Amino acid sequence: MSFTTAFIGGTGMEKLFDGQHQQHEINTPYGPVHYSIVLNKGIEFVVVDRHYASGSFRLPHQIDHRAYMYALTVVLGVKFIISTSAVGGINGNAFQSIKTGSLVLPADFIDLTREVWTFATEDFVHPEAFHRSTKDMICPRIQELLRQGTLGSLPGGILACAVKGPRYETRPEVIDAQELHHADLLGMCTVVPEIILAREASVHYGLICNVTDMPLKERPVEGAAVQTAAKENHGFIINMVWPAIMSLQSHADQEFSSCECQKQPAVFEIVKRVED
Ligand SMILES: [Zn+2]
Repeated sequence: MSFTTAFIGGTGMEKLFDGQHQQHEINTPYGPVHYSIVLNKGIEFVVVDRHYASGSFRLPHQIDHRAYMYALTVVLGVKFIISTSAVGGINGNAFQSIKTGSLVLPADFIDLTREVWTFATEDFVHPEAFHRSTKDMICPRIQELLRQGTLGSLPGGILACAVKGPRYETRPEVIDAQELHHADLLGMCTVVPEIILAREASVHYGLICNVTDMPLKERPVEGAAVQTAAKENHGFIINMVWPAIMSLQSHADQEFSSCECQKQPAVFEIVKRVED
């Protein structure tokens, strides 16, 4: 079975989609994956709760993103991923007006953790497969599609991943991300690994960031307050995502043919081709 689009979101978001929901579990080389198939108006799409994808709750630094990204892109054949994540807002670029409650469509990211995120393992590796282009890591066409759904009113920006979590960033780390790296958003290692793995899998990855706090203005950040702030935007996010899913379902291949996202074949295709 093959699907066009998947949504990766936070806990409780799946049930906000109208339609019939079916839970599934599969095994991958990177571990088990729990996901749902939602059927609405004749369209079937996949939904993953990244914190529960392994079957029980995982903090950001405990998630093995490879398992569900493998399930989506290799097993389920998804071409487009739309994701959302709760972040802090810092406005590192001039003329930005991001605040608590803002939804932002980031254009790119900075990984200040310097962690390694890849499908490569000691047994799954080849010199041709894993040196990937880093141009337009967040698909500009999906971002534009999402922006059109809001009449072009959402800001862009740069997302920085400063710490893996589970702690929040220190004040000097926030200032560093804002002033040295000109980031507009700060998040733990939730979506940055997904973006990198999406490029290795040659799929288009769009991202909506949900600003739950302004770390330099509203510290200390309380986890419960962040979760409450995040939920306030969940309905609005689903109302943005569903029209995009419908549009992607009937997309014309040439609309995305020039995307950097799929300039190279997926690492799985390259390794398989070489091994064959
Ligand atoms: Zn793309």
